[in-house]
Amino acid sequence: MNHVPELFGSMVFNDKVMKARLPKEVYRSLKNTIQRGAPLDPSVADVVAACMKDWAVSKGATHFTHWFQPMTGITAEKHDSFINPCGDGSVIMDFSGKELVKGEPDASSFPSGGLRATFEARGYTAWDPTSYAFIKDDTLCIPTAFCSYNGQVLDKKTPLLRSMDAISKQAVRVLALFGKDVQRVNATIGPEQEYFLINKEDYARRPDLILTGRTLVGAPAPKGQELEDHYFGSLRPRVKAFMADLDEELWKLGILAKTEHNEVAPCQHEMAPIFATANISTDANQLTMEVMKKVADRHGFACLLHEKPFEGVNGSGKHNNWSLSTDGGENLLDPGTTPAENTQFLLFLTAVIKAVDDYQDLLRISVASAGNDHRLGANEAPPAIVSMYVGDELQAVIDCLVAGKPCQPNAPTVLDTGAVVLPNLPKDTSDRNRTSPFAFTGNKFEFRMPGSSFNIACTNVMLNTAVAESLRQFADVLEQADDLPRALLELIRSELTAHQRILFNGNGYSHDWEVEAARRGLSNFRTTPEALVHYTDPKNVELFARHGVYTQDEIQSRQDILLDEYAKAIRIEALTLLDLVRCRISPACVNYATGLAQGVSTKKQLGIEVPQEETLARHISSLTGQLIQAADQLEGRLADPVAEDASVAASWCAQTLIAAMDAVRTPADRLEQLVDRSVWPLPTYSDMLFYV
Ligand code: ADP
Ligand code: MG
Repeated sequence: MNHVPELFGSMVFNDKVMKARLPKEVYRSLKNTIQRGAPLDPSVADVVAACMKDWAVSKGATHFTHWFQPMTGITAEKHDSFINPCGDGSVIMDFSGKELVKGEPDASSFPSGGLRATFEARGYTAWDPTSYAFIKDDTLCIPTAFCSYNGQVLDKKTPLLRSMDAISKQAVRVLALFGKDVQRVNATIGPEQEYFLINKEDYARRPDLILTGRTLVGAPAPKGQELEDHYFGSLRPRVKAFMADLDEELWKLGILAKTEHNEVAPCQHEMAPIFATANISTDANQLTMEVMKKVADRHGFACLLHEKPFEGVNGSGKHNNWSLSTDGGENLLDPGTTPAENTQFLLFLTAVIKAVDDYQDLLRISVASAGNDHRLGANEAPPAIVSMYVGDELQAVIDCLVAGKPCQPNAPTVLDTGAVVLPNLPKDTSDRNRTSPFAFTGNKFEFRMPGSSFNIACTNVMLNTAVAESLRQFADVLEQADDLPRALLELIRSELTAHQRILFNGNGYSHDWEVEAARRGLSNFRTTPEALVHYTDPKNVELFARHGVYTQDEIQSRQDILLDEYAKAIRIEALTLLDLVRCRISPACVNYATGLAQGVSTKKQLGIEVPQEETLARHISSLTGQLIQAADQLEGRLADPVAEDASVAASWCAQTLIAAMDAVRTPADRLEQLVDRSVWPLPTYSDMLFYV
């Protein structure tokens, strides 16, 4: 493909298009809004809308939609055509500034966690000019925020934008202390997206995958991932063709798809984009997931984005690479080479360490879901305990600073000015710790807990706001200091001392770490309901209120929605499993056992002794009995009264319903290994993972 530069962004109303198509004044005014958040002049909006429409129509678009991210985590759209009747039976293609800037989707079916009920039924969408409009399926998509009549946020984008403002404000204050004239600091994100590709015929025959995203039964295939022959292995031609097509579709949408490779599990792959600002990356990742599914379908695949589609092989995550960049392009987590830069770097590093320690619970909450509970702590993904890994070199620096000790060669020394001289940190440290949930990787942090299906907005809201709070506290102290270099060093030393418990460079999968983490007082929320109850802890409410990210009502609504979503997800799984067992698996097993028994009886009548066949028939009948009984018990649990309190209801699902489902799965999976494959009603793990 040699036309990539022309293809790239061809479906995006980006800066280049705006510059070419908008009148100079309008372009400048819009740019001011995009870069500095200046309010948008309504007359400007009219011109932009007309221009956008002409461009979109020239690309074949007939409709427009406000594209937004309600709290379900998916993206929502409602399409309107551009047509406007002229009165003579004809139409013109029309699009006004008002339609661009504001929409009123009938939002009553989106979850609001009680927010809307208390105010007004209507929801509004508002144009986010910082994320470019684009064309998808002949529709002009306008990225928008979604809020209630009173401005309470009902989506994932608005808090992200607020958190970006919060961290920018505090980072700018801190940079001013280093004599830097910076107007804006942006959180930058590169989300690495993992996914599975299986044959779509197999997918179509698995109601559990269709309804819940994961397999609820399925015996392990004879071969799993133990040979580690898939990771970075050469791509099969079909998968290669899918990836080439995916890249092309993403490039058209201006998404910087960069790396495509195989992951650890069979049929598992990853796509990594080049990083961008948090807002753009989040929108791009939402689109990426949608495009992946569509392109997969064209290639005869189903793309699975669930965190744990198959038991016994690795699940899928989304590594959230995160850093901070100034408007001048300086990466604030790059250690740099001179002492002054080092101190600034150490201060920002300390801010992140403090933030992760102070708000471990929020980071855990941001990755909590029924799907991700199968992954965290399952010896393949980071444990549910949040800790940080900074690498041996940086750890040595921190240890010296904390101890206030003179340092070894290759470890830092402190100059008379108080500036810290770091050893040269190799960017690509070979001793990567794959078990760490939050790892420093040279000039950025990689948060590995998010699940593959997540909207990354929430994680970055937590991260941005928590780091904003560290920086705020630091700026408050340092702005008052008489001797800044000394105060800086003192602050770094005392904060690192206070928060070093969050640093852990060992094996995060080991049981010893769980014990050690408990000793250190780190939190360990194994399940989603355990984590979610802390969302509304006073310290968290205070954090979000102080930085203008969420009001107490807005946090409460999110907690309610997530608890409810969790309970619903588990109930749907339980009902799906019940249906699978009752209507597909147990009939197949009953019939098969009956056939065996009839065979045994016929043979006996003829005087043929078949004790092994008889044993097999008995064994299968007995397992089938256990299966039916477990299914009856699951049905009983499903009929239990549901607690009114969302948190109690969710915890009950985590304990009681999941246990009842496990009890069904055990005999079902054993039966799968005994029953004639030609009568087994579902594609097996082997079929799905190895015969693709
Ligand atoms: P690694 O080998 O550590 O995974 P890569 O260079 O392959 O590092 O990058 C992984 C992801 O991190 C990519 O999506 C990349 O764009 C992103 N990334 C790199 N630098 C930054 C940064 N400064 N801020 C945010 N993300 C970044
Ligand atoms: Mg990585």
